[in-house]
Amino acid sequence: MIPGPIECETDVLKAMGEPPKSHTAPDFIKSFGNCLNMMKEVWMCPSGQPFLVAGTGTLAMEMAAANLIEENDKALVISTGYFGRRYADILERHGAHVTILEAPVGEVVETADIEAELQHKDYKLMTFTHVDTSTAVMVDAASMGALGRKHNVLTVLDGVCSVAGEEIRQEEWGIDVVLTASQKAIGVPPGLAMLVASPKAMETWKSRKTPVRSYYADWDNWLPIMEAYTAGKPAYFGTPAVNLVMALEAGLGNILKEGLPERFERHKKNGKAFREAMRALGLSMIPKNETVTANTLSAPYLPDDVSLPDFMKAMGEAEVIIAGGLLPEIKGRYIRIGHMGCVAHTDLMNAVRGIARALNQCAHKTNEDDGVLAIDKIMRK
Ligand code: PMP
Repeated sequence: MIPGPIECETDVLKAMGEPPKSHTAPDFIKSFGNCLNMMKEVWMCPSGQPFLVAGTGTLAMEMAAANLIEENDKALVISTGYFGRRYADILERHGAHVTILEAPVGEVVETADIEAELQHKDYKLMTFTHVDTSTAVMVDAASMGALGRKHNVLTVLDGVCSVAGEEIRQEEWGIDVVLTASQKAIGVPPGLAMLVASPKAMETWKSRKTPVRSYYADWDNWLPIMEAYTAGKPAYFGTPAVNLVMALEAGLGNILKEGLPERFERHKKNGKAFREAMRALGLSMIPKNETVTANTLSAPYLPDDVSLPDFMKAMGEAEVIIAGGLLPEIKGRYIRIGHMGCVAHTDLMNAVRGIARALNQCAHKTNEDDGVLAIDKIMRK
């Protein structure tokens, strides 16, 4: 129950365990092409260009920065936690002048403040973290896309903790890059960096005056590969992570079989049920209110009388694996529980029971049944 890597479905695991195929084998070419086509469906971006490469989510972040930023470009980072700060570092490394607008812990940056900043300077690109995994704060992606369009700024959505779990309509919302990694709501083991770039992002890259500073991340190297596999032909730049690609074919297939609206609704319901259960146990959440709250993970504060190391030890004994805090300023005071992908009602129940028992073991009295009843009430609706 950590916010990634998450549990995988059986067909995904089966694909991981198959003997590796040649990256030029006809059935692998088909799998790769299917993945690229399914990415456009899951991202809801029919006119976008998908990129699928071996690497982690950080590489997907860096790929967008490396290809869209040139020396001295101005970039605006809207930060709601740890991963916003990481994006600022990446953009600076690629030569951008970065301004970071940082939300108070548990809150989002006010739209008026973003708009004032966009009017104040001639920004080329703006990034935002859809769901920051360090705070469980969710940003309104549609309104960020609209702001980008209004001010003619490229928008980059870090969707590592949201794609395939929270609603994203890339094309309709006008977002130029939506990026993620395989190990979260996509439901595949870690190791794949994925993004879909809008036609405007591709135009911006094509009209660059200087070479991309990263060799591995350069779209010049990868675009012919993506185009070849889409056309049913093999091509080589770097050896694809063949088993992960086969697993991704199964994972994306499962997502589309479930249906995107159904999947988003299920995540919403699971998220709400889990938050209600945490509140029933007397815990308060980092996100300040329900409108800025993610559904892919929950981040409750521990009570003041409970120490994180003691609590995590008790969770281990309860055999429920969750994550501790990540945001430096409050790191030792909260926990994070992922509920993405194929998480079942019973997983949520067991996590709530484990948390209640661990609290009691830390001498913080709480009633396990209150949490379980709160989940049940929402799941039965
Ligand atoms: N962005 C967000 C929102 C994340 O949650 C993570 C990973 N937890 C990353 C970026 C970086 O991804 P990775 O660890 O796969 O490099």
